[in-house]
Amino acid sequence: MTKFADLHIHTYYSDSTFSPEEVIDHARAKDLSAIAICDHDSIDGVEPCVTLGKACGIEVLSGIELTIEKPDVEIHILGYLIDGKFDWLRKRLKEIQEYRIKRIHKMIEKLSAQNVFITAEDVFKVAGKGSVGRLHLARAMINSGGVKTFWDAFDKYIGFGKPSYVPNIRFTPQDAISMVLDAGGVPVLAHPGIMNRDDYIPELVSYGLKGIEVYHTDHGSVKRKHYEEVAARLGLLMTGGSDCHGMGKGRALIGTVKIPYELVEKLKAAAGSGKQ
Ligand code: AMP
Ligand code: FE
Ligand code: FE
Ligand code: ZN
Repeated sequence: MTKFADLHIHTYYSDSTFSPEEVIDHARAKDLSAIAICDHDSIDGVEPCVTLGKACGIEVLSGIELTIEKPDVEIHILGYLIDGKFDWLRKRLKEIQEYRIKRIHKMIEKLSAQNVFITAEDVFKVAGKGSVGRLHLARAMINSGGVKTFWDAFDKYIGFGKPSYVPNIRFTPQDAISMVLDAGGVPVLAHPGIMNRDDYIPELVSYGLKGIEVYHTDHGSVKRKHYEEVAARLGLLMTGGSDCHGMGKGRALIGTVKIPYELVEKLKAAAGSGKQ
């Protein structure tokens, strides 16, 4: 039987609504052999999913999703197989979490200038214990009646470059990729079809990018084929996943994008041992 993996799943440790239990239940229902947990700026969801996965024969790979900001676009980098044992990594992630809290306060202030009034408490209640972000803010805006849908929230207010947008801690391409490599992981460009700026790829490769997420919910067949060709041309690994945010973006996507397990084996072969 062919084994399949979904290598892009969020938990409620960032902006998915799913607990580790729910992630594993959905992965089982979809007969996945392996999954990777890729929360924004957090690895807190990895351990609980590894433990639950072991109990039912699902392999859980560690991962993270980091954001690089260019003047004109956001670039997401996935860090597969990073090792949570590094103190410097935990310290760095804690700083980012703390900044994310400040950032929410700043965005709320900007929103009030756009006549959308919510409190920080509203947002933190939605976020729970997770790495707080714009998807939580968007949900709080919907709950308060300030907007009707996620798309309104992002398009008019908090999407990249919109009036109430505030950047996260700024990672340069080199910072994000080095952080993954130094943690023993494999840096992979997330959903390149969303950023739509292939001209940035060579720079990322020069800093050590090792793969691209060819298969993704937002990549139709034309983009999949295109990024298969890009990966082959640049000698990069191919990965893929659903980018499931639980019910955070409407419906559970786990297993709707899946890749053959051979690609997971190639990814594992590319992992390093990191730096203290
Ligand atoms: P943050 O890490 O706080 O900047 O939030 C990133 C989250 O917001 C990710 O889950 C993205 O998928 C989501 N997001 C960013 N831009 C948009 C958009 N235009 N529409 C819907 N979701 C978005
Ligand atoms: Fe997200
Ligand atoms: Fe992303
Ligand atoms: Zn994601």
